[in-house]
Amino acid sequence: MSQDAALIINNIFGGYFVKYNGSKYVDAVNDVSLLIRRNEIFGIAGESGCGKSTLLKIIYGYLRPPLIVKQGSVILPLKDEKVSILSLSEEERRRKVWWKVISWIPQNSMNVLNPTMRIKDNFVEIMRAHMNIAKKEAMEMAIDYLHKTGLPKDVINAFPHQLSGGMRQRLVIALALITKPQIILADEPSTALDVVMQRGVLQLLANSQRTLRNTIVMVTHDLAIHAMLCDRVAIMYAGKIVEIATSKELFEDPLHPYTQMLLASLPRLGDKELRQGIRGSPPDLSAPPKGCRFHPRCTYMKEICKSEPPLLVEADKEHFVSCYLYSGV
Ligand code: SF4
Repeated sequence: MSQDAALIINNIFGGYFVKYNGSKYVDAVNDVSLLIRRNEIFGIAGESGCGKSTLLKIIYGYLRPPLIVKQGSVILPLKDEKVSILSLSEEERRRKVWWKVISWIPQNSMNVLNPTMRIKDNFVEIMRAHMNIAKKEAMEMAIDYLHKTGLPKDVINAFPHQLSGGMRQRLVIALALITKPQIILADEPSTALDVVMQRGVLQLLANSQRTLRNTIVMVTHDLAIHAMLCDRVAIMYAGKIVEIATSKELFEDPLHPYTQMLLASLPRLGDKELRQGIRGSPPDLSAPPKGCRFHPRCTYMKEICKSEPPLLVEADKEHFVSCYLYSGV
């Protein structure tokens, strides 16, 4: 086990049992393994519905029906022990892991804020539970953090439903930072914000990472954010990780055909040509294609791609790809 590992994710299979025309299983995360390091911003990118938010929920251990984990483990190496997050009960995760070691910025801020409590009580409750500080000190720290996120101090007296979605999102980001956790899991942290506020919030996250030297796992479909903030990036397609590389390498020399098409579809400054979209659409994950899940959309498809899923292999130093174009088959 690597000494600088912040999280070790082993062979996760997870998804949703949904009731629609009978009952079916949606295979949202399929055999995902990752080693996320201390002191890095690790990005997970991919189209909507590729499983990136589900993977983040599983890493956090936020397993609410209909989400289930069929197989796999998430190991959190601490100084004196290795915690297997998915083996803990929710009560144990709340006591040992959540906020104290890992905080989560979900897309829906109401997953974190208690709607029956004023913002100040939301803050003070979480801070006192995990930071061993007096109520007065907790309140002063909360006000200071709110100021840093660009929110007026009087929001502290509001109830969550009295605030806009963007304001609530900034509050959740402030909450995620205030306990100085080792790991922050951020799920589209700036999507609900306007461009100016987005920049401020991302800057706040990046600055806090530099100061605390902690780990951020950043999920967003916005590749510009990955390029700007992340040290390494994983590309997810239809529940699978198809490529992992340093951010520089991924944007300069993408290997997987899906990553190449994703980057080719982005607008470029000064380029007046219409960009090419990716042909076809992502598969229905209740009946994913056999073999490489990208094969129905791939222009390089070979016969083997239709039957055998490719493994994730190291094609270059620190550059992993799951595609038969690089495995010599
Ligand atoms: Fe395309 Fe085959 Fe590579 Fe999949 S494994 S991306 S279908 S070439």
